[in-house]
Amino acid sequence: MPLLTNEQLLEVYTQTKTATAIHVTEDAIIQTANDAMLQIWDKDRSVIGKSLEMALPELKGQPFIDMFKRVWREGLTISGTDTPADLNINGKIQTVYFDFEYRAIKDSKGQTYCILHTAIDVTDRFLGREAMRYAVEKEAALQREQALNEELASSNEELSAMNEEYQEAQASLSKLNNELEERVNKRTSDLAESIKKLIYSEQKLDNILHQLPSPVVVLRGPNQVIEVTNEALLSFWNKTEEEVLGRPMLEIFPELTSQPFPNQWKHVLETGETIINKEKPVVFNKVNGKRLYYVDYYYQPLTDLDGTVSGVLATVIDVTHKVEARQQLEESQIVLQKLNDELAAINEEMTASNEELIVINEELAESQVNLVSKVSELAESESRFRLLVEQAPVAINIFKTRDLVIDVVNDKMLEIWGKTNKIQGMPLAEAMPELKGQPFLQILDDVITTGETYYGNASKARIIINGKETEKYFNLIYKPLRNQNGVTDRILQVASDITEQFTIKLELEKAQEMMRLAIEAAKLGSWYIDPVTKSLKYNQMLAKLFGYEGTGSMTYDQAIAQVTEEYRDKIVEEIEKAILSGGDYDITYSQKRFNDGEIIWLRSLGKINENGEDGFRTFSGFVMDITELKKDEQRKNDFIGMVSHELKTPLTSLNGYIQLLQSKADGKGDKFTAGALATAGKQVKKMTTMINGFLNISRLESGKIVLNKSSLRLDELIHAVIEETMVITTSHVIKCTCEVPITLSGDYDKISNVVSNLLSNAIKYAPNHRDIDVKCEIIGGMAQVSVKDYGPGIDKVQVPQLFERYYRAETNHTISGFGIGLYLSSEIIDRHNGRIWAESEIGVGSTFYFTLPMN
Ligand code: ADP
Repeated sequence: MPLLTNEQLLEVYTQTKTATAIHVTEDAIIQTANDAMLQIWDKDRSVIGKSLEMALPELKGQPFIDMFKRVWREGLTISGTDTPADLNINGKIQTVYFDFEYRAIKDSKGQTYCILHTAIDVTDRFLGREAMRYAVEKEAALQREQALNEELASSNEELSAMNEEYQEAQASLSKLNNELEERVNKRTSDLAESIKKLIYSEQKLDNILHQLPSPVVVLRGPNQVIEVTNEALLSFWNKTEEEVLGRPMLEIFPELTSQPFPNQWKHVLETGETIINKEKPVVFNKVNGKRLYYVDYYYQPLTDLDGTVSGVLATVIDVTHKVEARQQLEESQIVLQKLNDELAAINEEMTASNEELIVINEELAESQVNLVSKVSELAESESRFRLLVEQAPVAINIFKTRDLVIDVVNDKMLEIWGKTNKIQGMPLAEAMPELKGQPFLQILDDVITTGETYYGNASKARIIINGKETEKYFNLIYKPLRNQNGVTDRILQVASDITEQFTIKLELEKAQEMMRLAIEAAKLGSWYIDPVTKSLKYNQMLAKLFGYEGTGSMTYDQAIAQVTEEYRDKIVEEIEKAILSGGDYDITYSQKRFNDGEIIWLRSLGKINENGEDGFRTFSGFVMDITELKKDEQRKNDFIGMVSHELKTPLTSLNGYIQLLQSKADGKGDKFTAGALATAGKQVKKMTTMINGFLNISRLESGKIVLNKSSLRLDELIHAVIEETMVITTSHVIKCTCEVPITLSGDYDKISNVVSNLLSNAIKYAPNHRDIDVKCEIIGGMAQVSVKDYGPGIDKVQVPQLFERYYRAETNHTISGFGIGLYLSSEIIDRHNGRIWAESEIGVGSTFYFTLPMN
């Protein structure tokens, strides 16, 4: 039978209802996932090939990703039922419940090669069950409450039933009592009747009396001698007939003397009236002491045949039991009533306390809800606080308790400390043992004790970072945090690492100090001029250089007045220019010393400093005494001038002889000699130009150069110089655009020198570029001349310096020269009140310009 292909198998598996996915590697890269699984994840097929964490970033912080790691590493199977997972569904994090299994699938060597991940979404089942459980619990609680209520009601009912029973018993007892009384009354009257009937026959009486069930006695005569009595009374008296018969009543029962009976007997005897009394107490002396009885008694007169009353028939019925029973009943009734009252009271109390309980219960439930919300609020604010600390852009942490346990710490702080978050939860002394012997632990302890905030400015700390002790500087705040009882139990630390700024500051201070020393050592005077008020400040060295010994401070005007006339205007102009345009100020000038009037040479360098946005500016710099230098230079210039002068005489004679020999050789037709002499002549001319240059320098420097001005045609001058140059040059083509006749006043020779110098430089420094363009035009009322070549050009930075004495650009040192040509040119143009400058670009070429005033 043909087997299914891998693709078919996968297709079948894709359609299974059980959510299934296969993952590989420790990162649980999703190899495949069927539709059911994608549905649970709320993702599409694009998650395939991604790690589980990338596919479902919301799983970060949940246990599943670590479980996959374990399953992969340890080859286990992890499963769970009703497990909650927070998944991003429809863009919202929702809790879903699963039965799941992560099963490591292993090859024959027991090596895990994939994880089979199956899951069933049991959210509905789980939530249903939860709802059911909740309903059952609620029902049970209701039933308990109802049962309690029923119990209370039934005990209430029982109590009232008992109450009713008592009342019933009481009623029946009193009914019984009444019946008894009625019966006794009836019997007593019946008895009296029969006695009356029998009274006349003693025999009969005796018999009757003896047989009477009621106790009777016949008392005869004034002494109440017991004549007849019966068994019933004898047994009540506890006497025998012999003991009592024929003896007066009070003899047998002397205790009756003090009781009301003897008087009543007397009354009956005397009046013949009947006395009926009920439930009267009578006390008899018994063997074991006095005893109280209650009796109903009837004293009836016994009349003789003659009608006189001679005796008393006393019928005595012991009703002690009845009375006692009634008394007991009454007592028990009172007790019952009391009990009843108490029960009622208890009942009321119970109801009241029941109500209270209900109220308390409600309050409890309410406070429980409050508590839960407070706890969650607290947890929320706590976590919000933690988040705040963690994300704060400054280094923050919180220490708790006196052990300074690191409770919360953000990455910034860990970075400063050079530690990882393993130190969280550790006491500071343990986390950073290097702090021992440094002041911080004690300061923090003091903050806990005093509850006062500590501010540390540029505090130096030695911290181990990457195993190396490092010195750092911090700005610190230790702020005590109090609990609800107002006790400081935590400290908030905010720290900023200012090591870099601090070190820079130290270096700056060092540099300033070094500069101060250098200024002192170089004997530099320093000055400061307020650009607006021109107030002058200076150091002691400047005062010494200027020879100023005045009492007050030297003013700007005083200082300017000392400058020699030659430089005075120039210096003021330069200062104004620097203040206005902000360029560098560098000037060499001479001035008269204050104290001795000696002429000294000074070089002053300065700069405008823009300070901040408000445009606050300062103009300051240094001045140095270069008198000695100047003197040396003068000596050198004199020397050069002297030597140049001495060299000129032999050169002039050499030139004469060469020309003489040349004309001779021409005459002889000796071409070789004529050519050699022409070359010699060129070299002599070159040498003469060089020597003239030096001579001019020395003249210039010593102020001996003078302009011989006359009216001249600049265009013609230029043509003449070009012509002259072309005589000795074959390598270059000079194109001249000088159509306009330009007449101005100037020193013909010196201007020619300038043009000649520019042309020879163009030839010299652009040997491989034939073209040279010369232009002469009028621009802005000035005559402007330019010489342009297409040579290698000069670095822009160097261009302004080309006109300095002896300056040579760095690029072309292979070409001979002394760096004086442009210097002399600039001096000449300067003295004509013109301007000279250059523009150049590397690889493109250079153009040198000069201008001259037209009149
Ligand atoms: P020198 O030519 O004797 O060195 P200069 O004062 O005439 O003295 O020139 C000063 C420097 O200016 C030269 O050394 C050279 O580096 C540079 N320079 C002058 N003209 C040119 C030019 N046309 N092209 C390139 N560099 C030039």
